[in-house]
Amino acid sequence: MSVGQGGCLCGLDPSIRYDGPHALLATLGGSPTWGLGDRFHEVAEEFGHTRLDVHRPLTPYGLGPQVEQFRGPSGQEFLRIPTYGQVVNEDPMLRASEWKTFWILWQAGVTILLVGGTSGSCDWRRNPADLDAVRPGDFVLPFSYLPRDTMPTGLPGTELEYCLPRQVAIMDDPFCPPLAEQVARAAASLPELQFRRIHPQADRVVLNRWLAGNGFESMATSRMLEEYGRQTGMPVITGDCVSPVLARVCEMHLAYYHIVSNWSTGLMPDDPTIVLDEMYTRQIPRAAARLELSLLDRLQEPADCRCRALLRQRPAVYTLALSPAPEPS
Ligand SMILES: [Zn+2]
Repeated sequence: MSVGQGGCLCGLDPSIRYDGPHALLATLGGSPTWGLGDRFHEVAEEFGHTRLDVHRPLTPYGLGPQVEQFRGPSGQEFLRIPTYGQVVNEDPMLRASEWKTFWILWQAGVTILLVGGTSGSCDWRRNPADLDAVRPGDFVLPFSYLPRDTMPTGLPGTELEYCLPRQVAIMDDPFCPPLAEQVARAAASLPELQFRRIHPQADRVVLNRWLAGNGFESMATSRMLEEYGRQTGMPVITGDCVSPVLARVCEMHLAYYHIVSNWSTGLMPDDPTIVLDEMYTRQIPRAAARLELSLLDRLQEPADCRCRALLRQRPAVYTLALSPAPEPS
């Protein structure tokens, strides 16, 4: 047993070998396509994509999430892991779901990871005349993030368990800028859904990272993030976000988009769940699926970003400054 993500205990078997499919691209599903339930592949078929197979790989941290393998109309293949790798009735932290998910993606050879989320806006500019504000109904390409929890930043039991002395992830451009531009262009041309406004990374929207919990933000958290935005000029959205550090350490370009679904809880008197259920089940899932499918069928690894360069190699002597690893028994 070892101490794991979030300080929990989990089984760890480094001898496990990956037996799932390989692909350069993947998506982690998420709240924009929640309303489709387990029928994402049916929408995919309508748009000319074929689900080739469904896998359930074993990982060093236990049985992993479901991995769907698709081929798009262009012939490009990609993987899909539903809802950030979460499994019914399993606490994602306790079961190390983010480790399992990233271990699978890393082993599968994924270099482009497309992820969507829905979010509450903490923008301080809530007067309807504030047209530049981040409001419900907007589409956001966040440019940075704030972690609200201790994120996983490595993959225990592998060479990426703790690689800081060897390589350090500089967290400028956590969300690949050229891929964000491509996602923004695709979102602007969706036939099903017109967003009030699409915020490019130039709008400097910050994503408050939180993944997997049984609640929304408290009023106090929302107010704190609202004030942070007012003081820095960088509006904050609260929503799902896999660990950008883990994506960088695994040498992936992370493309993140967010659909703003509500004002963050406590900032307005309305109950966001009514709006959310309507949005999740009726308004956005088909459009979000089309958006993801069209991107996964044509995105190529960008050459004009710094995602790889920002994982900086360090002098070999730094590794020698740590206690040596124990000899294998
Ligand atoms: Zn990149």
